[in-house]
Amino acid sequence: MYVGRFAPSPTGPLHFGSLVAALASWLDARAARGRWLVRMEDLDAPRQQQGAADLILGTLERLGLNWDGPVVYQSLRLRDYESALEKLRLHTYWCGCTRREISDCSLGIAADGAQIYPGTCRAGLPAGKAARALRVRTDRQPVSFADRAQGPQAQILQKEVGDFVVYRADGQFAYQLAVVVDDAHQGITDVVRGADLLDSTARQIYLQHLLGYSTPRYLHVPAAVNAAGEKLSKQTGARPIDTAKPEQAIRNTLRFLGQAPAVDLEEAIANWDPSRIPRRRAIAIEDG
Ligand code: GLU
Repeated sequence: MYVGRFAPSPTGPLHFGSLVAALASWLDARAARGRWLVRMEDLDAPRQQQGAADLILGTLERLGLNWDGPVVYQSLRLRDYESALEKLRLHTYWCGCTRREISDCSLGIAADGAQIYPGTCRAGLPAGKAARALRVRTDRQPVSFADRAQGPQAQILQKEVGDFVVYRADGQFAYQLAVVVDDAHQGITDVVRGADLLDSTARQIYLQHLLGYSTPRYLHVPAAVNAAGEKLSKQTGARPIDTAKPEQAIRNTLRFLGQAPAVDLEEAIANWDPSRIPRRRAIAIEDG
């Protein structure tokens, strides 16, 4: 049984970039006669916007993107993340490096723009240093997967990412950990999301192996970016979806996804053809 999901971060109202991920994931699930779940990724308290979760849900409803079962809120699932960390205990270590120290000793910049951590604290915290973040030890074994839209992918985590954080210095569980625990907990078989997360996938598969979870299929749709190449977001001034014109929003999103035009969602499901999704990581659009 196909189980898909949409996992927005409630940092603002739904905009075109997040609608692309939502619609692609919804159509893929409905075309497979599967279930489609919604999960609010509300762990990063400082980035949240009051009321954004309800706004997002209201917009999905207005557009006809109905979900199955109750909405899951990550902020209510801390105990599961804690037990996952406990399970990972032999694979993690405390790191006392500050941001500044990491950029001074970094092995370079990873594909997602973060510093590549050289493993300074792997052998134990240096004397006089306080524990800040918990990192998972990586290795040189390539992690590979076939993305349904972007094709074959491979990453050598130790070289390309470095030992990565699963529990942050500010006391929050890291996205990489929470997403893996939740995808497993919700029985997700198919992750459909924006290609800005393509480079996170190897880390997630690595954690799935360490935790004994199965790996879902992945389909990364092009991320919508503005003319400057920035991902649409509240920070880059993306406009909220106009819920007064649901047909227009769906039409534009289908076009972005390379799909045939459809009079309604029923027809969009019938027409859904993932092989028509552009094999690109990002596409610039005018909005935002
Ligand atoms: N919450 C993430 C975001 O809004 C998406 C996580 C995911 O789909 O894995 O960018």
